[in-house]
Amino acid sequence: TDPVLEIKGLSVDYGLGNQAVRAVRDVSLTLNRGEVLGLAGESGSGKSTLAYGLTRLLPPPGVVSAGKVIYYPPGGEPVDVLSLTPAGLREFRWAETSIVFQGAMNSLNPVYKVSTQLIDVLEAHQPGMSRQARTARARELLKMVGISEDRLDAYPHQLSGGMRQRVMIGMALALEPKIVIMDEPTTALDVVMQRQILRQLVDLRKRFDFSVLFITHDLSLLVEFSDRIAIMYGGRIVEQAPASVLYRDSLHPYSDGLLHSFPALRGPRRDLVGIPGSPPDLRSMPSGCSFHPRCPKAFDPCSVDVPVLGTPADLQGPARKVACWLHPIRNSAD
Ligand code: ATP
Ligand code: SF4
Ligand code: MG
Repeated sequence: TDPVLEIKGLSVDYGLGNQAVRAVRDVSLTLNRGEVLGLAGESGSGKSTLAYGLTRLLPPPGVVSAGKVIYYPPGGEPVDVLSLTPAGLREFRWAETSIVFQGAMNSLNPVYKVSTQLIDVLEAHQPGMSRQARTARARELLKMVGISEDRLDAYPHQLSGGMRQRVMIGMALALEPKIVIMDEPTTALDVVMQRQILRQLVDLRKRFDFSVLFITHDLSLLVEFSDRIAIMYGGRIVEQAPASVLYRDSLHPYSDGLLHSFPALRGPRRDLVGIPGSPPDLRSMPSGCSFHPRCPKAFDPCSVDVPVLGTPADLQGPARKVACWLHPIRNSAD
């Protein structure tokens, strides 16, 4: 494997001292070059916090309290993201990593044409580019994300939610980043539109050779469009596996629950059961496995000892990891 981004032991707290709650707990996750990695989990599991933390966009009182984030530029020296200078960080955020956050489509400025806003992004980050070249590039980007010629000069309110989301993707791709992070860009959109946008992103990835971290609670989208999936619960990654493997044979009872919370893509219809109970309270996390109060398979060790994420002893390869006492791991450092 060829990593483009490595998150190592990342923890994120909101607040300081005894007021602090830990929203991301010791997360290690690798994004490989050219892959689409999906991150799923219920509301409050820490998905957005992880994305904000690794790009250093955490709003106060959020602080990264432990861990490292390493970016591997193609052919260059590894970059320690968490110790970048402000100037280095600006560069990293647009030129290397681009982020489309939850509700980003509503952040378009209502008084400017979408093409103008895209031209502004190019102007701010590529000052050497001629005016004419910027205009041409903006039109090309908008066409690339499926905005037809006659909508290029539209104002945001003249576009549908799906169109505005496409504009955001166009902006995210403007500087040809190596990593695109999308945090539930599609929750407000209907399912058909979500699929179209994701498919487009996956197609663009093939042409422009970037990696995607895609965050959502719609696991069915991830099964369809991502290469690998990581599942988050109570601030931790509890399982990660290739998408098809996770769909066929998930190991963590929480992943099972999430998978059964949406209709089967193909094959026989399954009952939608959802997961009883509610996500853990960060201020008083359950002991041991934080899922144990909701887990249908909990047994003796579960309420006592925290299961560590690792490759189960009976499985091959490092691609599969799980944190559950049902699947004792080979080596916690794996
Ligand atoms: P969703 O699917 O709803 O977007 P999420 O997985 O992105 O959820 P986060 O937004 O990362 O979850 O939140 C993780 C936890 O951190 C939640 O328990 C949330 O209440 C808490 N949290 C988020 N922002 C703050 C904040 N500014 N101050 C205190 N706690 C916060
Ligand atoms: Fe359930 Fe125990 Fe596995 Fe946690 S460790 S998911 S409680 S079986
Ligand atoms: Mg979120």
